[in-house]
Amino acid sequence: MAARTVQLGGKEVTISAICKGSGMIAPSLATMIAVVVTDAAIGPSSLAGALRHAMERSFNALTVDNDMSTNDVVFALANGLAGNQPVVDPGPELDRFAAALTEVCKELAKDVAADGEGATKLLEVAVNGAPSDEIAMELAKSVAGSSLVKAAIFGADPNWGRVLASIGARAGTAGYDVAPAEARVSVQGVDVYDRAPVGHDVAVLKARMREPEVHVDVDLRRGPGSAVAWGCDLSYDYVKINADYTSLIVPRPDGGVAKDDRLANYSPTFKQQLLVEALGYIRRFAGTRCVVKYGGAAMVKESLKKSFCDDIGLLRSVGLRPVVVHGGGPEITRTLEKLGGKAEFVDGQRVTNTSDLKVVEMVLTGSINTDLVTLLNQEGGHAVGVSGKDGALLRARKLLPENGGRDLGQVGEVTRVNKDFLDLLLQQGYVPVISPIGIGEDGQSYNINADQVAAEVAIAVGAQKLIYLSDVPGILKAGELVEELNGAGLAAQLEDGTVQGGMRVKVRSILKALQHGVQRVHLIDGRVPHSIIGELFTDKGVGTLVTP
Ligand code: ADP
Ligand code: MG
Repeated sequence: MAARTVQLGGKEVTISAICKGSGMIAPSLATMIAVVVTDAAIGPSSLAGALRHAMERSFNALTVDNDMSTNDVVFALANGLAGNQPVVDPGPELDRFAAALTEVCKELAKDVAADGEGATKLLEVAVNGAPSDEIAMELAKSVAGSSLVKAAIFGADPNWGRVLASIGARAGTAGYDVAPAEARVSVQGVDVYDRAPVGHDVAVLKARMREPEVHVDVDLRRGPGSAVAWGCDLSYDYVKINADYTSLIVPRPDGGVAKDDRLANYSPTFKQQLLVEALGYIRRFAGTRCVVKYGGAAMVKESLKKSFCDDIGLLRSVGLRPVVVHGGGPEITRTLEKLGGKAEFVDGQRVTNTSDLKVVEMVLTGSINTDLVTLLNQEGGHAVGVSGKDGALLRARKLLPENGGRDLGQVGEVTRVNKDFLDLLLQQGYVPVISPIGIGEDGQSYNINADQVAAEVAIAVGAQKLIYLSDVPGILKAGELVEELNGAGLAAQLEDGTVQGGMRVKVRSILKALQHGVQRVHLIDGRVPHSIIGELFTDKGVGTLVTP
């Protein structure tokens, strides 16, 4: 995005622009969409003229890979709300507008170049002293687009030979009156050739060429023409991205093409990197305990259930000691409604009267827990289903209403977790699968929010990790995923009302877990298959990571 303001007829007008770039960026065309908007009052032909002027010096001075795409476009829209005297005729007003528009477009063009596939730096090539501006532009683009120059820039090599060879080849073919041997070439402002090679401090210049922008200046000493073009370096990644890209496109039976993401289609190097990354985590995690709260759509959709169970099996087989705590999901609500009751939630907690509790327990322990254990035990027999009542695993008491708050009925909170019981199972390599029903000292049963149970269990067993699977990508703030935050940051989200409903219970539980030794809490999207694996075994996870 870029923006400029300019004074027109005593009024301030604003020009703003936004664009997306991609691969296949070459002179004249690119897989790019840019939209320029302005509040200036300007006639259509004047605006079109100014845009053409800007384009020549910005987007059309861009080359990333010399390959044109056929679907780029730049729009400019003006609504006149600035209230300036409409600009219609050529003159200083239009020139000022065009100059500002050019600046905006140049900024975006540079962003597009810097964002080239696999690019590590922006390349800016300025050619001066050419017979004309047009020739200068053509030569600047030939340098910026030369694979040899680009590879040299990637390697931080101020290779004036490749720069001048590119100019000489283009000028020679087109018959321009240019003599590369007479030129001066500087890189990052340091002269490297001036009618002859110029000595310079090689180490210093190499270091400067590691900066995110590399400037190559060529003075041809042949005339008044000058131009600037932009491109980027040519990295190993460019080849990797584009070679892998094609291998993923496969023909469909109906004659079309589809993307085939199977790992078998990726390059051996990519797979090696993936394995090395994952194996590093596996070594780090071996023997550690983690608690997974299983909730949301992952509990309902068959394919997601299957991928969840596969993931738990995988965690176990690479040496983690998982404990699963499941919620009730939509099934409790459905059953209650079938029996003529209705579901009510206060701050994410289910209001549970005594007759509801029978249904809740039946669904949680009798149905969801056994189904999950069955699925987990289809391969290997390590899952053990337990309700919070078994071995008095979850001692509970009635959750008292907050000041003036609503009485939630038979909803409880955990007072004690039978750690010895869980230790016994974990030490024998079993995966406890816990249904969140607690038992009171008074013999009463309590429905406990599974998020809270997961946190209490994580604290009790000394888990390093606590993972929440839900129907959201993680913690969202203004619709955007928060990728990482600490306890204080999380508490602030609770304070400022960013988190609501069911997420509030989670956040409170997470804060408690962090205060009691849990090192990492992950909130991930249970609707995405294998999201647990993606979050735990890759450098850049997929959800929200909360640390103390
Ligand atoms: P479960 O406990 O089954 O995972 P809940 O409905 O109890 O699901 O809690 C998750 C819900 O919290 C999300 O689906 C979302 O609607 C809600 N929520 C409220 N505020 C936020 C937020 N800031 N970020 C993410 N989810 C939020
Ligand atoms: Mg919930």
